[in-house]
Amino acid sequence: PYDVLIVGGGPAGAAAAVYAARKGIRTGIAAERFGGQVNDTMAIENYISVVETDGPKFAAALEAHTRAYDVDIMNLQRAEGLVPASSAGGLIEVKLANGGVLQGKTVILSTGARWRNINVPGEAEFKNKGVAYCPHCDGPLFKGKRVAVIGGGNSGVEAAIDLAGIVGHVTLIEFDTKLRADEVLQRKLRSLPNVVVVVNAQTTEITGTDKVNGLNYKDRATGQAHRVELEGVFVQIGLVPNTDWLKGTVELSKHGEIVVDARGQTSVPGVFAAGDATTTPYKQIVIAAGEGSKAALSAFDHLIRTTAP
Ligand code: FAD
Repeated sequence: PYDVLIVGGGPAGAAAAVYAARKGIRTGIAAERFGGQVNDTMAIENYISVVETDGPKFAAALEAHTRAYDVDIMNLQRAEGLVPASSAGGLIEVKLANGGVLQGKTVILSTGARWRNINVPGEAEFKNKGVAYCPHCDGPLFKGKRVAVIGGGNSGVEAAIDLAGIVGHVTLIEFDTKLRADEVLQRKLRSLPNVVVVVNAQTTEITGTDKVNGLNYKDRATGQAHRVELEGVFVQIGLVPNTDWLKGTVELSKHGEIVVDARGQTSVPGVFAAGDATTTPYKQIVIAAGEGSKAALSAFDHLIRTTAP
């Protein structure tokens, strides 16, 4: 068995692996796709000390850093179940889709999350060419330009407020007849001079040539088609944690995030979690890496207290 078994190979999992391995304990990491969401990112400009890099380069660096240590990397492995230890200090099992079972004295869950797509023509085609999901990451790329935010929940309205301070103009598009964000956010949004809110609107297409040049939507009340000329579209209709496989074993929030305390401890003894899959706010690479390191240190602390000398 592993002393520390990590599930998920994004920034959180890679940081956990490096920190665990540096304690000289047996460390394994199983991941469906090593690198995680970073693989789908173009410019990364907010990982502190790295002025600018791109996703594939960053993902390769995560893997190289992990491989510099004695870590078993099991890539292309999908976890499907977690079985807590049957007695205190016992082994925790992770069941894989290929039928295999991995065992750990401690487990770190770092399976990340994915942005919900709107699935209209142009969305996939113009990803990273005007279609974006993360205002903290990509907002500055649209300085002075016109953008739309799709989604009028808290994350959409927060994104619109955030972007309004950077970009030239924001059109917020909500499918429902009213925004669902907290009233205080809606009030703030309405006070901004460069934001237009459109409700009851169904986005039908994101258009462009080599980059995004507009968005088409249908007024759901009249059926009339409308077009907005713009340079960017931020899709803000939800971030879905990759935690379906943990339902019933680990406490999850109402959004499906793994509930962790300040040390990354979950509701199951010996099981820790880090990164976008957890309740830790703000889903960012630097935060995921920090939380992964913390989870590994917590796992080590757990091991020295619970395993026989
Ligand atoms: P992820 O990166 O999501 O990694 C999850 C890992 O778990 C992957 O290896 C995945 O394959 C694996 N996995 C999932 N389910 C299973 C399973 N059942 N079994 C086994 N393995 C599994 N952040 C920034 O800080 N700056 C940016 O510029 C930036 N730009 C972004 C651009 C885009 C397009 C996207 C999508 C995100 C961006 N982010 C950015 C956010 C950042 O990528 C995430 O916050 C970060 O990757 C989270 O790391 P993580 O390790 O928690 O999860």
